[in-house]
Amino acid sequence: LLTRQAEIESNARTYPRKIPLALKRGRGIYVEDTEGRTFIDCLAGAGALALGHSHPVVIEAIQSALAEEPPLQILDLPTPLKDRFTRELFDSLPAAFQENYKIQFCGPSGADAVEAALKLVKTATGRRGLVSFSGAYHGMTHATLSLTGEPTPRRAVGGLGAEVQFLPFPSEYRCPFGIGGEASAAISARYIETLFDDPNSGVLTPAGMIIEVIQGEGGVIAAPDGWLRQLRDITKARGIPLIVDEVQTGLGRTGRLYAFEHAGIEPDVVVLSKAIGGGLPLSVVVYHRDLDQWKSGAHAGTFRGNQLAFATGAATISYVRQNSLDSHAAKMGERLMAGLRVIAEEHPCIGDVRGRGLMVGVEIVDGDATNAPAPDPAPTLAKTIQHECLRRGLILELGGRFGAVVRFLPPLIIAQDEIDAILERFGASVVAARR
Ligand code: PMP
Repeated sequence: LLTRQAEIESNARTYPRKIPLALKRGRGIYVEDTEGRTFIDCLAGAGALALGHSHPVVIEAIQSALAEEPPLQILDLPTPLKDRFTRELFDSLPAAFQENYKIQFCGPSGADAVEAALKLVKTATGRRGLVSFSGAYHGMTHATLSLTGEPTPRRAVGGLGAEVQFLPFPSEYRCPFGIGGEASAAISARYIETLFDDPNSGVLTPAGMIIEVIQGEGGVIAAPDGWLRQLRDITKARGIPLIVDEVQTGLGRTGRLYAFEHAGIEPDVVVLSKAIGGGLPLSVVVYHRDLDQWKSGAHAGTFRGNQLAFATGAATISYVRQNSLDSHAAKMGERLMAGLRVIAEEHPCIGDVRGRGLMVGVEIVDGDATNAPAPDPAPTLAKTIQHECLRRGLILELGGRFGAVVRFLPPLIIAQDEIDAILERFGASVVAARR
């Protein structure tokens, strides 16, 4: 099956190269391949499966939705399923959103919603420029790729080019200013202010600034809370809409329902996909009413919302809230990171263990290098560790600018003993990879 598919599928296929498995079944945090082998799934559909595989609540939602014989495709007309989803989603957002925010239903993917967010702020401000951050990931469509703070994939297609300005992201481990911590965040904020205010800087007041509160594909790098609050102040004072991309962080993954809640900021635009569809394709943009200046039909498209995804999404949001899976994710994430730090003590090739909630990254470095505090990244060793993990029944993805960050993104329903099983398999894999 793997070979047959590899022969016919596009050369752009990604995951089957690194995770050469044909999967036929999934339950909870486990998946089973066509040869009957079981794996712990720490990829969880790139974060789309908050409740893991085949959760009874999700299955029931699909079955009872179908039993009602809903019009499966009805463009953006209102339906009871859409209504329930909308109410569940707004109830899950902070109080200010209930009155002041609106929603645009988008296509099936996160990138669709980012595209809509860009059009929204450009229309509302009448401006063109966009600000993004180094290391950012917002999708693979033409415009979203232009926001990607990683030049290699961008170069192949060009994208929006000069419309997008990239600013440094204050990463703690590989600090762009070489100092780290609060001081780095303060310099970064001041630097951004200067760029906006100095007519010589070339950064004109943009149509919007887009940011991930925790960069996921970029290597699990969390923006400091204080810095985010400063960014909010800087953008608000200059009338620059702040777009927070919660495609990967949204719905409890980071230990809060939405990652921007850690810093207590109120974004102008929130982009959501992945988990909010309960495993089915769905994306939305939630934005402040003041920005609702585009005309009817400004964001048309056949698939703007998906009736079954409304059902699974509503059921998932409700389950996550009722069972406080956000605080559960925080607890499980702490346990995972504590265990990873113990492993790191024995292995100098683990340079950094970081994350928030169940969005965790381990940066693999050249353990023999002496260029502390951040030795050279070691992508080849990271790949070997990924391979060894797979041999031990653990599916993990790599990320980060150099592909040297091992990423843990398990379903939020994961139990304590399952975290321990991950640690055991990962620890053994690092030992094997270093042999
Ligand atoms: N934004 C973020 C933060 C993401 O992590 C991703 C996907 N990994 C996207 C946007 C794009 O979503 P999609 O792959 O569904 O287009």
